[in-house]
Amino acid sequence: MSTCLFCEIASGRIKAEIIHQDDDYVAFRDVNPKAPSHVLVVPRRHISGLNELVGPDCGLADGLLGAGVAAAHAEGLAPGGYRFVINCGEDAGQSVAHLHLHVLGGRPLAWPPG
Ligand code: 5GP
Ligand code: ZN
Repeated sequence: MSTCLFCEIASGRIKAEIIHQDDDYVAFRDVNPKAPSHVLVVPRRHISGLNELVGPDCGLADGLLGAGVAAAHAEGLAPGGYRFVINCGEDAGQSVAHLHLHVLGGRPLAWPPG
């Protein structure tokens, strides 16, 4: 049976530097940060990506964004600004098939992304 890395992190079976968690979402530091502050927010429930957010599951996005904003505040990013990224699928470079929101900040972020 295959396992999902972010399910394992959310359940505590694989270690990560968790900055916040509640019943539905877990926020932890990216192991390979792309900015001075790089937090990943995941739903505890396994959803493979944005394409699955249809019908009633759309509501998961509200909580995900809210948890991301909370992480940005906790990281002190709110005054200077920050960026949310959700990569979906191969063209966007999604490498872990469990929905996750990147919260990036702590330096000026170039636009457009590559
Ligand atoms: P994606 O490329 O799918 O949008 O983002 C996946 C992210 O997960 C990458 O930024 C990568 O650095 C991060 N990542 C991969 N493996 C691990 C891990 O074992 N622990 C943590 N904390 N982050 C990971
Ligand atoms: Zn998963």
